[in-house]
Amino acid sequence: MGGLSQSDRAWGDLPPLAKHGQIPRSIYDLTYSDLEDRLVANGVRPLHAKSLWRALYQRLETEIVQHSDILPPLRRWLDKHLNTDLTLDTPAVTECIGSADGYTKKLLLRLADHQEIETVIMGYPGRFTACISTQAGCAMGCVFCATGQMGFVRNLRAGEMVAQVLHAQRQLRSQGESGLRNVVLMGMGEPLANYDAVIQALRIISNTRGTNIGTARITISTVGVVPGIIRLAEEGQPYNLAVSLHATTDAERSALVPVNHRWPLAALIGACRTYSATTGRRVFFGWTLIEDQNDSRDHARRLAELIRGLDAHVNLIQLNPTRDFDGRSSGLNAAVAFRTVLQEAGFACTIRQRRGIDVAAGCGQLRSAQTVSR
Ligand code: SF4
Repeated sequence: MGGLSQSDRAWGDLPPLAKHGQIPRSIYDLTYSDLEDRLVANGVRPLHAKSLWRALYQRLETEIVQHSDILPPLRRWLDKHLNTDLTLDTPAVTECIGSADGYTKKLLLRLADHQEIETVIMGYPGRFTACISTQAGCAMGCVFCATGQMGFVRNLRAGEMVAQVLHAQRQLRSQGESGLRNVVLMGMGEPLANYDAVIQALRIISNTRGTNIGTARITISTVGVVPGIIRLAEEGQPYNLAVSLHATTDAERSALVPVNHRWPLAALIGACRTYSATTGRRVFFGWTLIEDQNDSRDHARRLAELIRGLDAHVNLIQLNPTRDFDGRSSGLNAAVAFRTVLQEAGFACTIRQRRGIDVAAGCGQLRSAQTVSR
C-alpha cells in the first residue's frame, strides 16, 4: 500500500488554519472520551458524561437546563467551566429557505467570526439527509462549483460541523420528523483538506449515546486529495468514501478540477484501489454530467475502463447552474445512455435526483451570501 510522504501529510493542514486560534473552544468540539477526561481532570466521575451527552445530543438543548439526570457534581462543573474555558456556542441559523417542492431546506449559518456557511437538509420518501460544510469557502477551485468560485476562507472546527447536524435535527423535530438518517460531507469545502477536524466531528455525531448516525450512513466526499484517501484506509475509518471524478483523462479533468494537477488520475485511481483493497469497502464515484464535455457514451466506456476491477458505484449528477460557469446540464436521455453503458460494464450506477436548485442548494451551488452580493 502506498504510504504518505512527509509533504503529503503536511498538505492535509493546507490551506492554513486561518483565525483558528481566535475562536473559543466549544463543548461540541469534544468527543465523548474527551468529555470524560475533562470531568475526571476536575474530580467529577466520568459517568456524568452520559447525562450531559443526552442533554446535548438527544434533547438537543442549547443551554443545559435543570433536569433529573443533571446531578449536583455535573451542575457544579458546568457552572464553573461553561463560558470560561468551554462554550456552548453554536453557529446561529440566520435563514432557513425551503425549495418550492418542499423536499429541500437550506440553512444559512453564521459562525462566531461572522463567516457564513450553508447546510442542506434533503428529504426523500421516509428519510432525510443532511449535507454539511467542512470549510468556509474552498481552495480546490472546481470550475463549475460556486463554493470554489468564492475561494477559501478557513477550515471549520469539529464543533462547527457537529452544530450543523444538530441544527438539522432541531429543524426536523420542529416539523414533527424523527430526525436524520444520513449525513454527507458534500457541502462547502474539501473534507480531506480538514482531515483531523472532520474525523473528530464524525466520531461525535456517530456516537451511539447521542445523535447516533450510523457510520455506514455517513459519506465523506473528496475531489481527489490522495493523501487523505490513503489515510482513511490506513486508519480503517468506517465511513463511506465518495470521489468526484468527472473526467477520464488528465487534460479533461485538470480543466474542471485543478487539484488534478497535484494528484493526477493514475495516483487517484491507485489510491481508490488501495482504499478498496485495504478496507473492503465500495468506492462511490461522482460524475457531474456536462453537455458535450463529458456526457457521451464514449466517456462512459472510458470511465468503465478506468475503474475496471474496482468495487464501485457511480453516481451521475446533472450539472446545476452557477454564476461563473457557462457549461450546460446534460439532458435525461444522455444520463440514461451513460448509465446504461456503465451498467452493461457491470457497475452499479444511479442518476441522482436533483434537489433544491431553485434555492441554490443543489450540488456545487453553495456559496456564502456575503460573496454572492459582491
Ligand atoms: S466541488 Fe467541492 S472540492 Fe470542488 S470547489 Fe466545490 S466545494 Fe471545493
